[in-house]
Amino acid sequence: MPGRSGEGFVNSTCNICRRPVEIFYAQEKYPLYVRPVPAELIEQVPSLPICIAFCRSCHHILQVNPPDESLLEKVYASFYSSYHNTTRTGIGIRQAQQFLEFLLRHPQNLKNPPGKALEIGCSDGYFLSLLDELKWEVYGCDPSPLTEGLKKTYDSDKIKRTFYAQKYFPQEYFDLVVLRHLLEHLPDPVELLSQIIYNLRPEGSIAVEVPNVSHTLQHGVAGDFCHEHLSYFTVQSLSIALRTSGFQNIIIEEEGPFLYSLAQKAKTDVGVQVELFAQAMERLRNELAAFQQEWESENRRVFIYGAGGHTTGLLNRVMKEQVSGLIDGDPGKWGKYLPGFDKEVFPPGKLDELKPGDVIIVSSRVFQDEIVESLRKYVERGIKVLILYPNCQYI
Ligand SMILES: [Zn+2]
Repeated sequence: MPGRSGEGFVNSTCNICRRPVEIFYAQEKYPLYVRPVPAELIEQVPSLPICIAFCRSCHHILQVNPPDESLLEKVYASFYSSYHNTTRTGIGIRQAQQFLEFLLRHPQNLKNPPGKALEIGCSDGYFLSLLDELKWEVYGCDPSPLTEGLKKTYDSDKIKRTFYAQKYFPQEYFDLVVLRHLLEHLPDPVELLSQIIYNLRPEGSIAVEVPNVSHTLQHGVAGDFCHEHLSYFTVQSLSIALRTSGFQNIIIEEEGPFLYSLAQKAKTDVGVQVELFAQAMERLRNELAAFQQEWESENRRVFIYGAGGHTTGLLNRVMKEQVSGLIDGDPGKWGKYLPGFDKEVFPPGKLDELKPGDVIIVSSRVFQDEIVESLRKYVERGIKVLILYPNCQYI
């Protein structure tokens, strides 16, 4: 399982929001494995204490001090053959179809279907076969022996018999990643969800189905709290897990004992936006430098219109030279100085001193158009009014 932190995993904090949790249900002995095993193996299934806690902050429920990772891995490895096989037993078909219907009810959260879809924990591939029928290009990964047969049905390099890791698939590759009954097995669901972001295209979707613990609590369902399930989601905690991991447009529906969710990766990754910011500042600096050269060679007077936060940024980050003063319509600012700049703030009447060819820089993004309108009469007198966005240019 990805993200399993191994021995020493003692959690008294929530594995979604990291705040303290409170234990509400504990039992001294509960079988580590809960499905039938052959008679000769029954002695190998230990019974261990189980302890369930809840988080008042994000409404999540989780196992406190779950069994050691190696013990759970042994369970998965030894007894996997008795795991559920939808294709062979026919049980679970309706559940898979209902989940698909949920996805199709929200086409606004599925960009350009059918595209490339990956199911993590695809088991015998029944859900992939439903997507395949709808012409999705399907990929799967799961260490289960049931997954081996899918290599014959689909391109063998699209099926990986392993736990998921983001390095197994290209960056920004999938339009849809499906997780059905996987997140509840993980000690750190947010870590897995955050990894999946890497493999999703911008605005790509994640489709999640997990048990609905609110249903368990409401009905006192006997078998739901077990060693294999480390996380138990409510609508609130699933939403917070998805949002924390970078997803948006989150839809969650309660379908009795299950939660269905469909959410999207942001259109532009914040890392990309950060790079764009540096480029955009560089653009502003370079364009202004070219104008400044012209002003210097032609000996023009330059005023900045707007004595607020934008001008402080402009003077401290982008340009400093050649400005005769600042202009602002607010009488409260007249005669004062902006921090880091030694030129006075004048009322708009000061602009009457300007001669044709002198320059007024409009220093605001939000009020740029309004300020330009108020300066029309100066343009008519041959004074140059320079806007900064989206490019530096005279109006
Ligand atoms: Zn929490």
